[in-house]
Amino acid sequence: MTQYAYSFEEAAQLEPALHKELLGGKGAGLAEMTRLGLPVPPGFTLTTGACLDFLERSTPEHSTLPDGLWEGVLSQLAALERVSGKSFGHGPNPLLLSVRSGAKFSMPGMMDTLLNLGLNDGTVGVLAQASGDPRFALDSYRRFIALYGDIVLGVPRHHFDALLEGVKRARGVHGDLELNEGDLEKVVSHYQALVLEHTGQAFPQDPHRQLEGAIKAVFASWNTRRAVTYRQLNHIPHHLGTAVTVQCMVFGNLGPDSGTGVGFTRDPNTGGAELFGEFLFQAQGEDVVAGIRTPETLEGLKERLPVVHRQLVKTVRLLERHYGDMQDFEFTVENAQLFLLQTRSGKRTAGAAVKVAVDLALEGLITRAEAVMRVPPAALEQVLHPRLKAGHSAKLLTRGLPASPGAVSGAVVFSVEAALERSKYQNVLLVTAETSPEDIAGMNASVGILTARGGMTSHAAVVARGMGKPAVVGAESLTVNAREGWLEVGRVRILEGEILTLEGASGHIFVGEVPTEPSQAGPELETLLGWADTHRRLKVRANADTVEDALRARAFGADGIGLCRTEHMFFGDERLPWVREFILAETETQERDSLEKLLEMQKVDFYGILKAMDGLPVTVRLLDPPLHEFLPALEGLAVECALLDSSGQSDPKKLALLARVRQLHEHNPMMGLRGVRLLLTRPALLEMQVRALAEAACQLKLEGLNPQPEIMIPLVGFESELKAARAQVEAALEKVFLERGRAIQIPIGTMIEVPRACLVAADLAQYADFFSFGTNDLTQMTLGFSRDDAQGKFLNPYLEAGLLENDPFATLDTVGVGSLLERAVQGGLRSRPKLKLGVCGEHGGDPASIAYFHRLGLEYVSCSPYRVPVARLSAARAVLEPRLRLTQST
Ligand code: PEP
Ligand code: MG
Repeated sequence: MTQYAYSFEEAAQLEPALHKELLGGKGAGLAEMTRLGLPVPPGFTLTTGACLDFLERSTPEHSTLPDGLWEGVLSQLAALERVSGKSFGHGPNPLLLSVRSGAKFSMPGMMDTLLNLGLNDGTVGVLAQASGDPRFALDSYRRFIALYGDIVLGVPRHHFDALLEGVKRARGVHGDLELNEGDLEKVVSHYQALVLEHTGQAFPQDPHRQLEGAIKAVFASWNTRRAVTYRQLNHIPHHLGTAVTVQCMVFGNLGPDSGTGVGFTRDPNTGGAELFGEFLFQAQGEDVVAGIRTPETLEGLKERLPVVHRQLVKTVRLLERHYGDMQDFEFTVENAQLFLLQTRSGKRTAGAAVKVAVDLALEGLITRAEAVMRVPPAALEQVLHPRLKAGHSAKLLTRGLPASPGAVSGAVVFSVEAALERSKYQNVLLVTAETSPEDIAGMNASVGILTARGGMTSHAAVVARGMGKPAVVGAESLTVNAREGWLEVGRVRILEGEILTLEGASGHIFVGEVPTEPSQAGPELETLLGWADTHRRLKVRANADTVEDALRARAFGADGIGLCRTEHMFFGDERLPWVREFILAETETQERDSLEKLLEMQKVDFYGILKAMDGLPVTVRLLDPPLHEFLPALEGLAVECALLDSSGQSDPKKLALLARVRQLHEHNPMMGLRGVRLLLTRPALLEMQVRALAEAACQLKLEGLNPQPEIMIPLVGFESELKAARAQVEAALEKVFLERGRAIQIPIGTMIEVPRACLVAADLAQYADFFSFGTNDLTQMTLGFSRDDAQGKFLNPYLEAGLLENDPFATLDTVGVGSLLERAVQGGLRSRPKLKLGVCGEHGGDPASIAYFHRLGLEYVSCSPYRVPVARLSAARAVLEPRLRLTQST
């Protein structure tokens, strides 16, 4: 029969590779700590398989434990009673248990935890006697009833909270610790009456029934809405199930030398090597993580219980060395005795991820390749997050704890519903009194999170860091009235919809919108990227159209420019009139005059960019977009002309413009007169651009620099198009070289962004020195999804319904578009073995797509400058990941 229950000792004997899969992260950590001889309260773990079998045979109305599971639990209970010398549900020394969930991947606060299980009207008295502290026993009992009532019996938590508040108000006290024995007795009896009223049944007194209910509830919590949402957001598979850990209770609320804490072996915000933690004397775990009381740092523990503090530091350092990663640990001190309750890899900010990985490698705990694999590429985008512009004069509203970095402005909302609604048209900040995992959907819809209570390890802080969203928590001067939709700090009241700005790294909250600037990453980022560069094969270029972008790209380590979109150079105020003049030209002279003006400006552009990228390749794409983009919008112009006409002031110039705009109007401009089609119909334009580039390059050569321009022809579908365009480019180059008396090697290639081009790649390659895959248009045309409209119209509903796994414009559709790419690569290389292959669509900065391009054997990816570091890291990981998988499986 399947073994569902493993004591920590038994679990420690299992194959370590199985640990997490079978026992979940928590169970695996406890088994390992037990094996290392660390102080862990005894217990056992029910496997993830037990959860799956339970879920399979249960319905919401009727839940059934799998055969043999309860017998396993009973035999483990007997063993626990033996080792602890306590008895479950009775006796002079009653055994109390914690029941906690723990999946393979950490899902902080997403599933349920029960403490003090085994307490009833009888054992509470015995516990009072045994501990000599009746207040402690009653306090534990009232916590248990509330937790159990909420999680297992379905009595909403706020009813319990209201009763507790009522007793405090009646006594005129604020803190829980001020309640005396008599008050707590009252709370217990109110709670029991509440359970009876709500469920029609008395609070269960039989501890075995309590345990069975708790196990079922924790298993079932795998499928709560918030857990499902969390898994969707974090790409955690739904089929894994959660393990359940049942463990002897130790008490952080036993007296002045007791307490509970959580911590990280390094600062999860900055990655600094100092121990970072929070501790509450006389408290149990949920007080810290639920953010109900705002905890102190570990300094308090160090002052009052220095021996325990020393032992804690030693133990967690050992854990960090053992796992080779920063640990997030939970511990309890019971009467000055330390117990570890959990250890796992700590969630961290993107900046901390980089620093910790580099530091661990420099300390010799992991290899440099492992360090590269430790930092998720998306994290780098966060490292480069904006922060508030220095020297701003915005009014500080208040401050809280700096829970997750980044600076962001948004309209405040006070509920998940409001966040979901308002975020459809505006950036929102979710503001709550304290945090609840129920808020996850609202957090996801918000650009930042602000809470009035809670510590750095509260759910809001942990989840926001994981999401990479700026968050400020524990802003205690904040009063939040969610029902009426306002917050207050002193006399300042902010209503729902008003704008605040959060600075997650400092914990500052400002009134109104404050301008931001890009952040500076620490020196560890350069180190890590340097290590990544030693592994990657793919080159990383940038898409850059200005000198500023080019310099930024170079600073981020770009190996060149893979796409310089020249149309962006035509939109400036001083240029647009000449572009329009060219488009509207009716005679050759008019066309020539306007192009001459544009030529001068283009030369300056190319000169600057080639100079900024000296020595590195710069791929310049000849003009691509439909011409109407440079003209006034048809509707506006038509209305203007009609108005003038009706007032008898008709303007012949405007009317001519309107006629031309009408003439150029297309129903499907993305499939219209653009790209190579435009260049072939207006060859003077092609010649002007080629001349500007060649002259700029000659000039730089003359100055002793090393320009490396490349010319790219967009939207080619037919061999004949490319042949004709190439001939024109070559002729234009030839002219300049003759005039200048020098020739420069300028490769001429094409974008591959029309499906037909992939199918006839072998023919195209005869006329192309390189292919650059324009996966934006290629995706649009292969899928038949408009890149401009799909998102708002049907893509989001598709993604929500699971019809598509990813946004195909963000992550390459490797099955469909990918098979066209594969065909194009094969065809291209067949006819020109030295053909250079790259990609310059948005996918060039997407980590998953980069791994695919690596496998496809491309030479480079090209992406926006900010994503260059992401791409460098992703390209290295694409090399390292298969190696890592290989070493893990052998
Ligand atoms: C592309 O289509 O992938 C591309 C890079 O060109 P653009 O986005 O300018 O159409
Ligand atoms: Mg394109």
